[in-house]
Amino acid sequence: MRIILLGAPGSGKGTQGPILAEHFGSTHVSTGELLRHEIAEGTELGQRVRGYVQAGELVPDEIVFALLSEPIAAAAASGGYVLDGFPRSLHQAEEAYARAELAGVTADAVVNLSAPDDVVRERLGMRAAYGRADDGDRDVIERRLRIYHSETEPLLDFYRSRGLLVTVDATGPAEEVTEAMIAVLTDRTPAS
Ligand code: AMP
Repeated sequence: MRIILLGAPGSGKGTQGPILAEHFGSTHVSTGELLRHEIAEGTELGQRVRGYVQAGELVPDEIVFALLSEPIAAAAASGGYVLDGFPRSLHQAEEAYARAELAGVTADAVVNLSAPDDVVRERLGMRAAYGRADDGDRDVIERRLRIYHSETEPLLDFYRSRGLLVTVDATGPAEEVTEAMIAVLTDRTPAS
């Protein structure tokens, strides 16, 4: 199964991604986790992206594609992927779609984890207490939300027009969101 997870920061992608991957025998590929790993390791790439991530701004596309090409291809070749945090802009989505089409590995479904800004604001504020630096600062939270609305939300129409979009209410407890996601995705999967 090949799935793209969309949703605002704090909508639950990082919680639901691994669960979904486990359920469908796919690999969870989190762009944010990969970026934070590079930063923590102090690699050259990590040094180039640190400022963007700390400020809550999007990392330049060429870096994101360089980082993700291999993990996505490897996941696609072995049970599929659950992409969390990518694509995040129309340009990334168009480019990713073109590349995936060439390789015959476009997504089977795109899950929109839908939650109002107030709910995700509160979650991000709480998450900051557990040490995610880019969740701590109110200005950074607001910037990430603004970028979500201006850059990422247009992807909903992009995938809706391709018949791939399913929307799940992400405001409830995590277990309920998981159940709803799996139910709607299982409905879409043709019986083999
Ligand atoms: P996340 O863990 O998905 O919230 O991502 C944390 C941060 O990593 C974001 O605020 C961006 O700075 C960066 N990032 C993650 N995914 C992308 C992407 N697809 N394109 C550009 N920047 C990204």
